[in-house]
Amino acid sequence: MITRLRRAGAIIVGKANLDEFAMGSSTENSAFGPTRNPWDPARVPGGTSGGPAAAVAAGEATLALGSDTGGSIRQPAAFCGVVGLKPTYGRVSRYGLVAFASSLDQIGPLARDVRDAALLLHVIAGRDPADSTSSDAEVVPYHDRLTGSIRGMRLGVVREFFAEGLDPGVGAAVRKAIDTCRGLGAVCEEVSLPHASYALPAYYIVAPAEASSNLARYAGVHYGHRTAAAGDLETLYSRTRREGFGAEVKRRIMLGTYALSAGYYEAFYLRAQRVRTLIRRDFEAAFARFDALLGPVTPTAAFRIGEKVDDPLQMYLSDVYTVPLNLAGLPGVSVPCGFAAGLPVGLQVIGRPFDEATMLNVAYAFEQATPFHTMRPPLAHPAAGDASRGRSPTS
Ligand code: GLN
Repeated sequence: MITRLRRAGAIIVGKANLDEFAMGSSTENSAFGPTRNPWDPARVPGGTSGGPAAAVAAGEATLALGSDTGGSIRQPAAFCGVVGLKPTYGRVSRYGLVAFASSLDQIGPLARDVRDAALLLHVIAGRDPADSTSSDAEVVPYHDRLTGSIRGMRLGVVREFFAEGLDPGVGAAVRKAIDTCRGLGAVCEEVSLPHASYALPAYYIVAPAEASSNLARYAGVHYGHRTAAAGDLETLYSRTRREGFGAEVKRRIMLGTYALSAGYYEAFYLRAQRVRTLIRRDFEAAFARFDALLGPVTPTAAFRIGEKVDDPLQMYLSDVYTVPLNLAGLPGVSVPCGFAAGLPVGLQVIGRPFDEATMLNVAYAFEQATPFHTMRPPLAHPAAGDASRGRSPTS
């Protein structure tokens, strides 16, 4: 991806922070320490691509890349008030990306607005012989397909994404966004994904299982850290892994190894894969009736640094509306749609496989009808040249 970007004339300004091995929802699992949210430095920027999302929100970079295995582009985009796009599985090559859960991982853009995200997707999308799962489906100039008109389009509002656990302020902002789409002439009707509530447990079996397999290579021989205190081979492996991995990564390796072990494989991994098929079919049924689907990206706005670090289950619950798309391989985009108690909220637009163009056009039409993409956090100072455009939610 970096090679493609350079070829297209991009200037790479840095490598941004993320949770270790892209496991987390807050960037607090980074060995470099947490990233702060430009809208409120006491809060997380989301995760795992919290660094790139915060960098774009703060005006440190015009564009950024993240990876999304279970929401790690869309969730930080929602928390930081920027656009975050997870492409269809196979749309963008994973070559060069450290593998977390290979059947879910996708690289995608973070940007200040939909057109920038579309431009970046155009540069990075397409078949790459170095990743056999990358698709040769046609890449269209996504930015040229942004008409801004959604009149007559059929948009499904995912019922299960508005159930218990959704913060009222976030729910209100997303409902208002749906009304805006209606006002633009789209037909917005409720749609049910009956198996959506099983997505989170299925994800937290499949992702750790694949991670435990992918991370087996970090044994102190070819990659990464190697212990200084190895006597025999067994000690080299175990000491290296004990010293090198952080707590959350160890938890995932243990969960995944357990789920894949003899006697449990059928009960956990295989069952989770079956749930995955059911979820994909739910989406197929929905897309037989609708051109794109709408819902929130996250159940809450950005939470406080430290608020969830001791409670992995609470942390995992941040991913409840994002992981269904990864399990089904679908594209999704988070677009700023308002504020809840002064913190940005994201609207999630979900597209048909390889139909990023339609999905982006819905996001674009909404964006152009609302002021949220022009608002900058108070950190954005006049030197960034944004003072005249910048507006805070209270002004
Ligand atoms: N919160 C998810 C997890 O911890 C996100 C992973 C991701 O998209 N990289 O697994």
